[in-house]
Amino acid sequence: MKTEFSLAQLADPDIAEADKILRACVHCGFCTATCPTYVLLGDELDSPRGRIYLIKEMLEKNRPPTVEVVKHIDRCLSCLSCMTTCPSGVNYMHLVDQARARIERDYRRPLSERLFRAALAWILPRPGLLRAGMVLGRFGRPLAALLPTPKAAWGTPTLLQRIKALLALSPASLPPPGPAGGSIFAAKGEKRGRVALLQGCAQQVLAPRINQAAINVLTRHGIEVVLVKDEQCCGALTHHLGRDDDALARARANIGVWLREAEQNGLDAILVTTSGCGTVIKDYGYMLREDRDFAGPAAKISALAKDITEYLGSISLQPTQQHSDIVIAYHSACSLQHGQKITQAPKELLSKNGFVVKDVPESHLCCGSAGTYNILQPDIANKLRDRKVANIAMVKPDMIAAGNIGCMVQIAGGTSVPVVHTVELLDWATGGPRPGLN
Ligand code: SF4
Ligand code: SF4
Repeated sequence: MKTEFSLAQLADPDIAEADKILRACVHCGFCTATCPTYVLLGDELDSPRGRIYLIKEMLEKNRPPTVEVVKHIDRCLSCLSCMTTCPSGVNYMHLVDQARARIERDYRRPLSERLFRAALAWILPRPGLLRAGMVLGRFGRPLAALLPTPKAAWGTPTLLQRIKALLALSPASLPPPGPAGGSIFAAKGEKRGRVALLQGCAQQVLAPRINQAAINVLTRHGIEVVLVKDEQCCGALTHHLGRDDDALARARANIGVWLREAEQNGLDAILVTTSGCGTVIKDYGYMLREDRDFAGPAAKISALAKDITEYLGSISLQPTQQHSDIVIAYHSACSLQHGQKITQAPKELLSKNGFVVKDVPESHLCCGSAGTYNILQPDIANKLRDRKVANIAMVKPDMIAAGNIGCMVQIAGGTSVPVVHTVELLDWATGGPRPGLN
């Protein structure tokens, strides 16, 4: 794609990066076929190619974001399916991240929307506040039925519709909190390694059993696990809301505590059981590339970050029981398959450890979760969830496995089949409890 940035514009490293990305696009449109919003809405401006044009216009002309630009960028799930499809290697992720940050900086949303987004950005990364909010949400759930359901599917959702979506996602009950930061879990038998396990924010409130399963599997196989003290939310949630200052501050804080742990006590890896977080931590090196103090440390941390299935694939798991009567539908989270290009490791681990694993039709399409997307764009998210659940039903599974809490909650909202994390199944196969019973 031809671009016409001035030399003065190109002096800005972000614009220079955008220029490089835009020039790689050859307008072929292959990406449109695999973009969930284009598949659903059929509007070129809701396709990757359409959004690339909108972003190009905004950056090149140095125009403030218009209502139209914001509408179509907001509708993007950042699922990155387009990046998997693109034959030219267009880095759409870095382009849309830049567009979201610019919208956040230069566009004035209606007051109610600003307040709602600010509340999400404040509460979601703080597990204590999130827990309190979910307890309140539990009492508000009955009210959700009284709030209006959208009739026209594709308008910009109203505040009430978003509140309704938020209440619908609040669980009926919450499990007790998991272990605190600073906890160390000793390896059983001969020690073969030492890792940090990301504690996460939403996941530690909604499903601490996931990290418990990871700790069980790891320690059972000789790996010491540390929950690093003073670690915080990885920044993914605010990054996707365009709040880069918040996201980068969190990244820097985490880099500091993880590097200290690695230098003082040694770390073979920083393991992540929420693939949405893993994709962002693996991108810290890029996000902080212009930061003189943090560029090097950020690249080191990105290199240490691994999805739990990546790591478990590198150590030999010892199954103690076979579950060849259990059919698992494997839901490939977008952040895992498109963001981190991890497609086979989870399925191979499950097969090797005795499960019957089935691929889900249209597995490249997002389930609609996408961070805060299912709250901010509930109509599109619900349609995608229903489509995903229908595709999953085609393989008649006993359980559904996924590697991302957002997907798990989203899919569970549309099916009665138990939705579990891949690592919970691996824990079960190697001597842990049967998942999906709590
Ligand atoms: S990230 Fe997903 S929703 Fe956004 S343009 Fe790409 S394929 Fe479409
Ligand atoms: S597939 Fe890649 S090169 Fe083709 S239009 Fe989409 S982003 Fe551009």
